[in-house]
Amino acid sequence: MVLTQKSPLVVPSNPVPRKIKIEEDLKELAYAISYLPGKGQCMIARRDIRAGEVIVTEKPLINMPDSVYSYEDMRDIETWLDRHMNRFSSDERIAFFDLADCRTPALTDGKEEKSALGIFFTNDMNFDGDAAVFPIISRANHSCVPNADFVTRGERRVQEIIATSNIAAGEEITLSYLQAASEGSEGKKERQGYTRLWYGFQCKCRACSLEGQELILDEAVRTRVREIQGLLADSSTAQNQVALVPLPYLDAFLDDLRIIGSKLSYRLDMTRFVFDRAVTAGDAGLLAKTAAAGYMLDDIVNGCEAGSRNEFEFGIRSTLVFDTNDSEAEGYLYMPGGGLAHNETTL
Ligand SMILES: [Zn+2]
Repeated sequence: MVLTQKSPLVVPSNPVPRKIKIEEDLKELAYAISYLPGKGQCMIARRDIRAGEVIVTEKPLINMPDSVYSYEDMRDIETWLDRHMNRFSSDERIAFFDLADCRTPALTDGKEEKSALGIFFTNDMNFDGDAAVFPIISRANHSCVPNADFVTRGERRVQEIIATSNIAAGEEITLSYLQAASEGSEGKKERQGYTRLWYGFQCKCRACSLEGQELILDEAVRTRVREIQGLLADSSTAQNQVALVPLPYLDAFLDDLRIIGSKLSYRLDMTRFVFDRAVTAGDAGLLAKTAAAGYMLDDIVNGCEAGSRNEFEFGIRSTLVFDTNDSEAEGYLYMPGGGLAHNETTL
């Protein structure tokens, strides 16, 4: 999220001593903090990274409770921040003030001026409902089609960056700064307007660099996504949703979310929704597809939390059957050795 940094190239040294046996080399740092002209500091893959792999695990430097973040008077937030920063070690203070600030206007003599508030609001991320700053994760730049996403591990109080596609050595590691249910599905003009307004840069990511037919196709996918999002938001009751958004549309909607690189947590929520609809409608094909996709997403988003159980495991191990006495022909899941259960009460 660094936009105007002028720091020299910084590449972390390999933390694994070379004398350690070869297998240990696989555990070497997956990323390096580097510098790209026009972009400032950024995060680069040091080696090939597989989809689903954890790239960074980091504790927050600042964890501002939502109750503080919601203060209406900015001076109250500043007071909280000052008190918190008074407890910083010198290294923590250096790490914090090395982060970008796109909220504080630059001085007229051309020197860069930063403020603690400006740095905080440039770099803060959602952290289990709170707002937190992570010095390393904050180096990851934005893309409207990111190759990574961040996930909060509440149990361990850490944030992780996870690869959402295979990333080649040397490739930049990117996150989306956009909300999945709103700006994330907007067209190029709206997305670029959002990043200009809130982060002070004109996005030139792969999606924003498309031209001609490729741009038309990308915009068409996003238009479809927004239409479904609009219908789901408008339909206040379950009956409305069934009537307004047929299953084939929801099936395509999940594919489109994957194509535009939508956030993992949002894709998990939508997959859960479509899975439930598939069970109720008795659509075995869509049930199998959403159970498999949901299992994978739940494993990535919640999988390593202590005591967590994959909510789609039941769907994968079950068989869809119909209750022929049911006039609405609702689908049921048959649990091996466990009888019948309706999806809404069992999952
Ligand atoms: Zn973009």
